[in-house]
Amino acid sequence: MAKRIHTVKGTVEIDSLGLILPHEHLFTDLRGPNVPDYAQGEPSAVVKVVEPFLTAASAAGVTALVECSTVGVGRNLAVLRALADEVPLQIVPPTGVYRDAYVPESLREMSESELADLWTKELTDGIERTAIRAGFIKLAMSDDGPTSLEIRNLKAAARASQNTGAVIASHTIGGRIAKQEMDVLEEAGLDLQRFIWVHAQTERDISILQEAAGRGAYVELDTVGAPYQSQPELLATAVALIEAGLDDHLLLSHDAGWYNPASSDGLPEQGYRGYTALTKDFIPALLTRGVSAEQVRRITVDNPVQAFAF
Ligand SMILES: [Zn+2]
Repeated sequence: MAKRIHTVKGTVEIDSLGLILPHEHLFTDLRGPNVPDYAQGEPSAVVKVVEPFLTAASAAGVTALVECSTVGVGRNLAVLRALADEVPLQIVPPTGVYRDAYVPESLREMSESELADLWTKELTDGIERTAIRAGFIKLAMSDDGPTSLEIRNLKAAARASQNTGAVIASHTIGGRIAKQEMDVLEEAGLDLQRFIWVHAQTERDISILQEAAGRGAYVELDTVGAPYQSQPELLATAVALIEAGLDDHLLLSHDAGWYNPASSDGLPEQGYRGYTALTKDFIPALLTRGVSAEQVRRITVDNPVQAFAF
């Protein structure tokens, strides 16, 4: 069967999609799964805040957005469904789990194979008794390197990916941890073409990014438009990877959004950041640096399609 992208509104044909943002956030609860009202939110209140940003993204040419707020940091299907019904772009929901400190008790107790079965089921049948299939596996590693629980998560994710073809996207700070993680995944039999190094811009040594791409991984620069990221530096990294011939392994996104159910107005402390800096600023800047329109299309359309389709 032809590969498809699995969204909140159902599976869609890859030809129906254009520009895809591979790493964004819609609804995120960073208090973790042990607070009493964890991940609770009134869908209509979330729609009111988030819809204008998604409509603006759609107007800027975005056809789909990958929601990276996974289990442990607020995944809420009712909210995602309400949003998907109101906006003109597709939303790709995650399975998986966030880093050790955020893993809910129920998942902590599972064996590697039980976890692999759960994630496989979410990718093939549906999430939480709905018919909504997860579109990818989102993980995260602790900043000091994978804990034993996170190693178990990686191995379970490798199995679920091998069962389904879904890609694993993992929050990974720095090249040392990325290398460790890729070693675990390869040892578990995963082809690294099914792996996305999330937050790869945290590694400043470009040769390490090139090495990861050379092993097959997607290298994701996901701080486009972020006030805490030097945009000229990010641009220089992207251009260097493209000039090294790795444009088929590069992904670009904003890591923006973050509706916060713990705040009274739903806004994160620093304000809600939208999803248009890529099309408005970053792509034009790439073009002025000599990157071709064809390469831009590869990076923003073909790569995410190939990464997320299964
Ligand atoms: Zn993120």
